[in-house]
Amino acid sequence: MLEVRELRAGYGPVEILRGVDLDVEKGEVVALLGANGAGKTTLNRTLSGLLRPRAGSIRFAGEPIGGLAAEAVLARGLVHVPEGRRIFTNLTVRENLLLGAYRRGRARRRANLERVLGLFPRLAERLGQPAGTLSGGEQQMLAIGRGLMAEPSLLVLDEPSLGLAPMIVRQVLELAADLARQGLAILLVEQNVVQALAVARRAYVLEQGRIVAAGPASALLADDRLHRAYLGL
Ligand code: ATP
Repeated sequence: MLEVRELRAGYGPVEILRGVDLDVEKGEVVALLGANGAGKTTLNRTLSGLLRPRAGSIRFAGEPIGGLAAEAVLARGLVHVPEGRRIFTNLTVRENLLLGAYRRGRARRRANLERVLGLFPRLAERLGQPAGTLSGGEQQMLAIGRGLMAEPSLLVLDEPSLGLAPMIVRQVLELAADLARQGLAILLVEQNVVQALAVARRAYVLEQGRIVAAGPASALLADDRLHRAYLGL
């Protein structure tokens, strides 16, 4: 579904991504791990069309998308759920969800809304409520639900566990795994290494703009280097 090769990107004179290779297939959760400043957000911005690649290629559903504008990338079904959720706090839950179908998925938005509300019964109970009154976990669910309204074939989840209680983190990540089982491709960008590896099939570790480790989640969980670098063990 997503095929990234030798990707380079940065800001001004500074190169941040220095040759990244990464794949995500349909039906799998792939975790992208890395400490603060490793380049995870830069990679996301490049995938989403917010930042132009300097070199290398990005293929999505068999076609090159590197250098396309953000709307064109979204139109193809690569949907980004941003860090910090960016929901519209003054709009209702329902309005936020419908905005997810503004550029893509408009024709089927009623059916998709039903499906999303089936996935998130808590949102169904709060449809008319301003989104700002939701709990942190509910806001994250709303952000994911809004992403689903755009009928993604790849969903990029940017640090969905940020600021959530451990039990809620588990629920959000398990939901990601459920969506993958239903056929979605998911790139899960996380600092929450152990919990991300628990739901991911494979993972990549980004360090200073390069992939320094990659493989099945279970193998990375057992990797001493990863333990030393990220788990403080
Ligand atoms: P975090 O988890 O803290 O968000 P990250 O892995 O997402 O970290 P990035 O945000 O991609 O890391 O940042 C990678 C590097 O790029 C950092 O050194 C950062 O200072 C730099 N950087 C990010 N945005 C810009 C920008 N707009 N201009 C210049 N440098 C930037």
